[in-house]
Amino acid sequence: MCVVAAGRRIFVTMKNINESVWSPCLDYLQDRLGKEVCYTWFKPTKLLSLDDQAAVIGVPNKFVGDWLHGHYDENIGQALEHVTGKSLTRRFEIFAAAASGNGNGQGTGVSRKAPGAMAMPVKAPMVRRPVADRRACASLNHRYTFTNFVVGESNQMAHAAAVAVSRQPGLERHNPMVIYGTVGLGKTHLAQAIGNAAVANGDDAKVLYVTSENFTNDFIRALSEGTVAAFTDRYRSVDVLLIDDIQFLAGKESTQVQFFHTFNTLHQNHKQIVLTADRAPKDIKGLEERLLSRFQWGLAVDIRPPDFETRMAILRKKLELENATLKDDVLSYVARAANGNIRELEGALNRLLMAASLESREITLESAQEILRDSLPQRTKPITVTRIVNVVSDLFGVSKELILSKRRTQAVATARHASMYLARTLTNLSLKAIGAEFGGKDHSTVIHAINTTRDALSHDLQLRSLVEQAQSAICNGRPE
Ligand code: ADP
Ligand code: MG
Repeated sequence: MCVVAAGRRIFVTMKNINESVWSPCLDYLQDRLGKEVCYTWFKPTKLLSLDDQAAVIGVPNKFVGDWLHGHYDENIGQALEHVTGKSLTRRFEIFAAAASGNGNGQGTGVSRKAPGAMAMPVKAPMVRRPVADRRACASLNHRYTFTNFVVGESNQMAHAAAVAVSRQPGLERHNPMVIYGTVGLGKTHLAQAIGNAAVANGDDAKVLYVTSENFTNDFIRALSEGTVAAFTDRYRSVDVLLIDDIQFLAGKESTQVQFFHTFNTLHQNHKQIVLTADRAPKDIKGLEERLLSRFQWGLAVDIRPPDFETRMAILRKKLELENATLKDDVLSYVARAANGNIRELEGALNRLLMAASLESREITLESAQEILRDSLPQRTKPITVTRIVNVVSDLFGVSKELILSKRRTQAVATARHASMYLARTLTNLSLKAIGAEFGGKDHSTVIHAINTTRDALSHDLQLRSLVEQAQSAICNGRPE
């Protein structure tokens, strides 16, 4: 039985299909693909017609149609199935300017074709391959796999733990697994990669991915429709349960009670639970004590913002997946400008690829800066070690001279190590170059400083907060 479609109304006819069908589809897609993708690719679309076999999706031009077809067709199918309860074929049609000009984004339900409109036959989703089918039932995005995940220093631990979980789901030592870190760093991607691996490995494991918001909504709906038993059964009968963004359970007491019982049942039966959160579970306010203590039974791993090299590698990976190329200076501009958040990095890359494709021109550094002017912090000059040392000096209360000196007192060494760590994370300087900036330190001293800070960040909350503040001041402050 397909979990996603379970309990949904089956669509017959509706007056305003955009409001009642497409808009919830877009919400569903945004949950899974993120705001950035939805804004770039789905904002200009609408539903042109719908019956119980097929949906015709209106796109503004061939490029957007090709892109949606090539990248998100399966997700669109899942969204339509989630909302209508039906497995529908999809077709993309360019809609005429007049059709798009009704201003309120609401379609008429009548397909209007532009002269020369493109109609792309889409593979029939009725006969799905078993893996694709199971993935859809599990609500997984097929792009969130381990293969598509770039491993760097910032996510190495989380990646290794996720791979271990995917190999032996349900083992006591990593059950539950909690992945935490701020927004856009790959938590959802990694959690879903565990699910995708479980779905693909052939032993028919039942996997379910859900955001904690959807878990809450499902529960509320079950209460109001008197279907709590079905709700309970759905969540407690899986082999791998992935719940995203558990911080949103804070303050929702009755949902937490449900979650607590779901957790216990799964855990007792050695079923794997994977949770993500935007901070360490113990720091989430408004979660019941008994839940928090259970979250500590297994393994918690954090993901930190990627360093420059990892950002470059992620951009290269995305280009490879899109079968596209961009010049190195453009890539390093994007990697430097979008420094904290990988979603931002991807959004910037998508915008450049779209511009390159629409205008059939090669993107130069200047045009990239122009295209991304409103969406990325403008930093024409790269971040310098001087800037880093200035900010660290202010925040840590240690003078610049002392940070750059050889003094080894604890406070000075901490500030110096943090500065080197930030230099490594926020600039593309080599270890040797960083050593030179800090008074001719050798390569191994720099590595030691970076590792000391990295280790301390995982348990020293005060240092973590200072380093995060420094990072934000360095990245978002006015350029020198
Ligand atoms: P989070 O859940 O932490 O907010 P996501 O998992 O949604 O972040 O990641 C945001 C985007 O960045 C996704 O499109 C994801 O595929 C991509 N991403 C994150 N980390 C990596 C990585 N290490 N390699 C490749 N892509 C990544
Ligand atoms: Mg997420």
